Amino acid sequence: MRKLKRLLRRLLLSVLLIIMAIIIINTVSYSSKQISVSTFNKFKISDDVIQRLSDITKITTTSYPSHVDTAAFLEYHSYVDSIFPLVDSLLKKTTVNQFSRIYKWQGRNPNLKPYLLMAHLDVVPVEKESQTLWTEPPFSGKIKDNFIWGRGTLDDKVSAMGILETAEILLKENYEPQRTIYFAFGHDEEVGGKNGAQAIVEYFLQKKITFEYLLDEGSLILENALPGLTRPLALIGTAEKGYCTLNLAVNLEHGGHSSMPPPETAIGILSHALATLEDHPFPAAISQNAQELFDHIGPEMSLPNKAIFANLWLFKGILKSQFEKSAASNAMIRTTIAPTMLEGGVNDNVLPTNVSATINFRIIPGQTSETIIEYLNKTIDDERVKVSRINASFSSEPSKISSSSSFGFNALQKTTKEIFPQSVVAPSLVITGTDSRFYEPVSENIYRFMPVQLTNDDLKRIHGIDERISIDSYKTMITFYYQLILNSSI
Ligand SMILES: [Zn+2]
Repeated sequence: MRKLKRLLRRLLLSVLLIIMAIIIINTVSYSSKQISVSTFNKFKISDDVIQRLSDITKITTTSYPSHVDTAAFLEYHSYVDSIFPLVDSLLKKTTVNQFSRIYKWQGRNPNLKPYLLMAHLDVVPVEKESQTLWTEPPFSGKIKDNFIWGRGTLDDKVSAMGILETAEILLKENYEPQRTIYFAFGHDEEVGGKNGAQAIVEYFLQKKITFEYLLDEGSLILENALPGLTRPLALIGTAEKGYCTLNLAVNLEHGGHSSMPPPETAIGILSHALATLEDHPFPAAISQNAQELFDHIGPEMSLPNKAIFANLWLFKGILKSQFEKSAASNAMIRTTIAPTMLEGGVNDNVLPTNVSATINFRIIPGQTSETIIEYLNKTIDDERVKVSRINASFSSEPSKISSSSSFGFNALQKTTKEIFPQSVVAPSLVITGTDSRFYEPVSENIYRFMPVQLTNDDLKRIHGIDERISIDSYKTMITFYYQLILNSSI
């Protein structure tokens, strides 16, 4: 008996030692996917760019669901044409639906497939109640404390301005690209992109123009993004989540007087369904996209996090729970469920017959809106709760996952390393929607990345209060586009 116990103890010890050995070997041999680039000498960008971004911020190209501020968009275009005379005269401009713009910069080598740099010109409105909460008025374009303040300085007029500033600088230097470059700036991204991005894609399809790669907004460079990673994390979005809004409705034949309520009411049934969903979130999934992200950031982590990433066969659960700690990282590993509206009831003494809830889902690649509906019906498991689609303007299935070894990704990775040498570059999933979701018919390689380094706190400024960009960040952004164009022109 004692012999057997000793034998078992030895066996257990051996198994533990083997597991330890595997963990150590995997961690030590976990090799970096970061590329090394030669030192990049930053060049000086003129201070004039600051005033021009400030001026453009003052033009209120706000998107409203109901209408377009015609005068503002026209003012925007005439101002841009006047400040970039070389772009205006040397690049071919095409206007789409009055306010969206395509620029074509002809390359010398017609055998090279063109690429496309994108941005959107519209901004979200500023609610009346929050206007006074801004340090500087949202459309003041105030230049103060080394920042340019206002709507659009992060999302996303700044990208369009950065791209055009870069083109003007290069044209002044008599630069001629080998590869044709297009710029496409939609005017209604914030309300769904149907008249802007979607119409631009139709134009490209008509002209049979396809792209080697394209770059839109989406991800950024984040400071202190994850525990164990001290370097800034440059996330290049290789995919974006789908968007689906569903209606949950309970329609009972009898409502009745609130003085004699039945055991179950329409509000009770719907509330129960919503609580069930909250208790049963979609399972976390390490998709191909997430796996690629982990493979790029894991080797750059300090211990013990590096060991966790290197041994997902054992530590997958720990990693998932780390990602679940913040709402932003949680959204990267699962389809999210967000109840956004509730409707029902007419009076405090009447039991309603019809009540409904609106729920917004952001779908990870690998699932579809159809599988979401199936999951809901199975989880709620109550025939009285009817699930139906709401045709929201942002509705879309998850995007395809673009390659993290294509010409375009390599150009972006190289440029990022040159301009932000400290950064860890990784492919990632964008949890919000961008105009680029319309572009799958014209390019296999779609990337979403804005070359700006922000803190987690700064992220709240996007669509929020005190949107601003530092002068240094804006100049760095122009340097990035400059270098990206050089790196892509081969
Ligand atoms: Zn945007």
